[in-house]
Amino acid sequence: ENGGVNDPKNLRVKVNIMDSGVGKSCIVLRFVRGQFDPTSKVTVGASFLSQTIALQDSTTVKFEIWDTAGQERYAALAPLYYRGAAVAVVVYDITSPESFSKAQYWVKELQKHGSPDIVMALVGNKADLQEKREVPVQDGIDYAERNGMFFIETSAKTADNINQLFEHSALSPSLYVN
Ligand code: GDP
Ligand code: MG
Repeated sequence: ENGGVNDPKNLRVKVNIMDSGVGKSCIVLRFVRGQFDPTSKVTVGASFLSQTIALQDSTTVKFEIWDTAGQERYAALAPLYYRGAAVAVVVYDITSPESFSKAQYWVKELQKHGSPDIVMALVGNKADLQEKREVPVQDGIDYAERNGMFFIETSAKTADNINQLFEHSALSPSLYVN
């Protein structure tokens, strides 16, 4: 079973969102509640939020989003998060090369343990911090292309590309087959 349900009118998509300190929780809160809270607390364990959107053809897509903590001490739980996910969103921070390396670690884990038809998105977040950028856009593009992933840069702070991230994830044909 993957997290996509084969109903063209009501697609249910389980989304796992990986790594920490990069703005995952802020991305999810921006998408689900339309808010950005710079004082939000570090996520402990995993949290679950859902959001339903209508696509242009009036298909509705309900995203069930699992926001994982990403800390090493939760690594043992990671297989639980991979299981049944139709979409995995791997996030790094464009101001942190270390977070880009960690994102690549998560991509490899997903390739090893995730479902073979999982849709993977690579997200460079904090795109509002252009003056502090340390990961070139082209590095994200190249890595994503080599690994068959969709790539986008977002800002949870300004809301740039947040809806596009989820909308684009919902368009993947592999979600519509069992
Ligand atoms: P998580 O550990 O990946 O869930 O990261 P959080 O969502 O908790 O965010 C970590 C920190 O980055 C917080 O201080 C956020 O305010 C900040 N942050 C998150 N997204 C953005 C963004 O798009 N732009 C900027 N400038 N800061 C962000
Ligand atoms: Mg978090």
